Amino acid sequence: MLPSRRRGRDVWAAGMVENGARGGATRMAERLDISVFVDPDFGENAYLVRKVGATRAVAVDPGGGTPELIAVLERGGLTLDAILLTHAHVDHVTGVAALVRATGAPVYLHPADRWLYMQAPMQAAMFGFRAEAPPPADREFADGETVAAADISFEVRHVPGHAPGHVILYVAEAGAAFVGDVVFQGSIGRTDLPGGDYAQLMRSIRERVLTLPDETVLYPGHGPSTTVRHERTTNPFLVPTYGGGLA
Ligand SMILES: [Zn+2]
Ligand SMILES: [Zn+2]
Repeated sequence: MLPSRRRGRDVWAAGMVENGARGGATRMAERLDISVFVDPDFGENAYLVRKVGATRAVAVDPGGGTPELIAVLERGGLTLDAILLTHAHVDHVTGVAALVRATGAPVYLHPADRWLYMQAPMQAAMFGFRAEAPPPADREFADGETVAAADISFEVRHVPGHAPGHVILYVAEAGAAFVGDVVFQGSIGRTDLPGGDYAQLMRSIRERVLTLPDETVLYPGHGPSTTVRHERTTNPFLVPTYGGGLA
């Protein structure tokens, strides 16, 4: 049976995710101003990212918190340079259409998730709600490339497993990474959804996430931020002591 939207807060994680994030709360990674807008139903985190004091910004995974994100853009007189999607599960893209209408910003997506992206309304129907079809993506992410937007450099790392076209976006200068549904505080992404692959996900985490510097702050698609060190040493899905197989 499919989980309903109401109890959907943790349906994208393999285990329970405590959501300590609050809508519109601002956190400072070094040199970055990062605001999070949480979907009230899915608990999905949309991020608005800019350099401290800058007027140009980037949005990551605009979901159900997008109306509030748009209000912040308008109140602050901010210009949106890009919409970056870690992957195309419906909870991460429900706000894309409205955000493109409001800003005209280009949408970036890995080509291996294009089929999921085009099926967003169908994904929504599976969960018993309606979602507006997003406009076609404008740019394709490629593994290893650096995307520059709002004067910030995002290193693209392809990390399949939770979704085939999943990427993480690493900002080396700020020690921050937007990791979508690959790893959460104390959990990992589900692999039983369409396109999921458990062995591939564990390989992605081992080779592409845990190889980031220990102090890197991870901003996940659900729940509070964490660090590479914290997950490497305490995440029960990753630490052998608890039955995990990675760290
Ligand atoms: Zn999600
Ligand atoms: Zn997902």
